[in-house]
Amino acid sequence: MKPPSSPVLEVKNLTKNFPVRRGLLSRTIANVHAVDGVSFSIGDSETLGLVGESGCGKSTAGKLILKLIEPTGGEIRLSGEPIEGMSAGAMRSRRRAMQVVFQDPYSSLNPRMRARDIVAEPLRNFERLLQSEVDERVAELFENVGLRRDQLARYPHEFSGGQRQRLVIARALALRPKLIICDEPVSALDVSVQAQVINLLIDLQKEFGLAYLFIAHDLAVVEHISHRVAVMYLGRIVELADKESLFAAPQHPYTEALLSAVPVPDPSVVPKRIILQGDVPSPIRRPPGCHFHTRCPYAFDRCKTERPAMREVKPGHFAACHLRDGPVAQDM
Ligand code: SF4
Repeated sequence: MKPPSSPVLEVKNLTKNFPVRRGLLSRTIANVHAVDGVSFSIGDSETLGLVGESGCGKSTAGKLILKLIEPTGGEIRLSGEPIEGMSAGAMRSRRRAMQVVFQDPYSSLNPRMRARDIVAEPLRNFERLLQSEVDERVAELFENVGLRRDQLARYPHEFSGGQRQRLVIARALALRPKLIICDEPVSALDVSVQAQVINLLIDLQKEFGLAYLFIAHDLAVVEHISHRVAVMYLGRIVELADKESLFAAPQHPYTEALLSAVPVPDPSVVPKRIILQGDVPSPIRRPPGCHFHTRCPYAFDRCKTERPAMREVKPGHFAACHLRDGPVAQDM
């Protein structure tokens, strides 16, 4: 499905292999297929949730988009402009538009810097502002994220976990980005604080028109914040749809199993749990055909040899499974 507005981010066939080297000559004996042909786009003021088990490649995909690591193949466009092959200078100016919020706010913050200097750092690096203008912008950013002016001179250890994540968000907002990659931004926080940070992200999105790539394993959190959701398994996206459609009627057996494990708040409802057999296979030696066939309760012979194409099963709802019909997806 095309996102509701012009894409801030377009990713096509993004691939990352990490070579496994052995011996005196460090010969490559295998590859870890961390990300394998991932495609999606995100529009203005849109949140795409990227979910999957640990090691499925979702965080690697985020790092590739941020150019923290180089892709093996594929294309990344930011507001229509390809960032591959861009010079360091050109990339530096594009970095303003793309920011990140990581899982652990404490390790993302320099413990020896005061909060105001942490938030001011990107302004000093990227913008030519007078000190009074920097001070004004920092105070404004503190207000935007629900921190108080009397906390400006504090050090990171003087804040609670939730406040530290607010500080990280203020720093990410400093350069007025278009896209923020949120990599498990609330996983390290208490549940009550998680809700506050998620609601803050939603409010900031409305205020500044931000696009989010929201990487997480907690489906309840993803359902709350996302407009569309992409599900990854062993480096590939296996299902992508708007959240209502995906949560109401998942089309891929892996998504079905993930959703069946989400706790239901109503005690009178007995959920039908689907317990997947076995572990996630190694990304070095992935099963042929559909990578999920070793754990799929519906697998049949064709699944063992033929890779399922991503199909548009319903308008805007894509799934890669031989049990589903529909035109092969061109654009997601
Ligand atoms: Fe299961 Fe086969 Fe569909 Fe893969 S293609 S998810 S193994 S039914």
